[in-house]
Amino acid sequence: MPSTTPFHERVLTWFDANGRKDLPWQRGISPYRVWVSEIMLQQTQVKTVIPYFERFMQAFPDVQALAGASQDEVLHLWTGLGYYARARNLHKAAKAIAQAGGAFPDTLAGLEALPGIGRSTAGAIMSIAYRQRASILDGNVKRVLARYHRVEGWPGKTAVHNRLWEIAERYTPTARCADYTQAMMDLGATLCTRSNPACSDCPLAEDCAAFAVGAQHQFPGKKPRKALPVKQTHFLLARTPDGAVWLQKRPGTGIWGGLWCFPEITGEQHAIAHCLDNWNLRPQTLDALPGFRHTFSHYHLDITPIVALLPTQPDSVMEGTQYLWYNVHSDVQIGLAAPVVRLLDTLQRADAPRSEYMQR
Ligand code: SF4
Repeated sequence: MPSTTPFHERVLTWFDANGRKDLPWQRGISPYRVWVSEIMLQQTQVKTVIPYFERFMQAFPDVQALAGASQDEVLHLWTGLGYYARARNLHKAAKAIAQAGGAFPDTLAGLEALPGIGRSTAGAIMSIAYRQRASILDGNVKRVLARYHRVEGWPGKTAVHNRLWEIAERYTPTARCADYTQAMMDLGATLCTRSNPACSDCPLAEDCAAFAVGAQHQFPGKKPRKALPVKQTHFLLARTPDGAVWLQKRPGTGIWGGLWCFPEITGEQHAIAHCLDNWNLRPQTLDALPGFRHTFSHYHLDITPIVALLPTQPDSVMEGTQYLWYNVHSDVQIGLAAPVVRLLDTLQRADAPRSEYMQR
């Protein structure tokens, strides 16, 4: 039975009583803060984002500060958050804004022209920061609307995507649009959750089409499953006697673009050849650490780490903008790929008994 109270009014009434109103990006609202938070919140939960957002704002309080930072500084503050293209695009967009005179775009088209800003992020900035009527359709809102209207199909398909946008636009109110935007994100994140929606507390339950037939879990439709291919690689963890480990900066594009990583090798023979070629040193020992799997959206990568202990300190230091002898205890500000963070942590724990010796 359709409710007599309009959709947006029910959502806003629920928000007034239950919505989140004291998140860090809801204080001192600006287009820059909304933008950074929206990018961080893509694929990532609020509680994970909060400390990252706070550190990021402390380091880069405005778009000029972000534009003036090095890519290493930006990626360092993103380390652990994943989907690093988001950080690289944020940095690129900040530079573009600074080069254009420093004014943040204040139209949907101007925002969408920047790297990494799609229609939904632009809508969030327009509604929350500029108080204009604009719609959003992030993952949470897609779930709410797909369930409320029982929209069949995977939202990645153009027809389904367009239908959801059409619904999102239709419900977006002119008044209190900023609150409505936040309310829809909150409703999706806290009530209409992926696995266990709290329909009995939901202001939309009265006429929610999926709830009416107990089919909440069928919406939104799932991405057609394809078995992900599996690739193999070895990481070379070359270590000096004082415990430093060799890192290389990855090219700016491709997986872990711009992040620091161990060299990829084909196996033990290649590990020896790499040490001879680069430092003219044959490793004293070679040890394989337990392998593990890192999954990207389009493939699995099975990683076997090989630790090569060099017998002496290498003569040629060969450090620079692309290479680094990294001490696991150092606080140097670089972005690290997730498996590298994991392996550095393993090395650090293994080294703990001799940590005094290794500090330098
Ligand atoms: S009634 Fe349940 S399924 Fe429908 S929108 Fe609310 S929480 Fe989601």
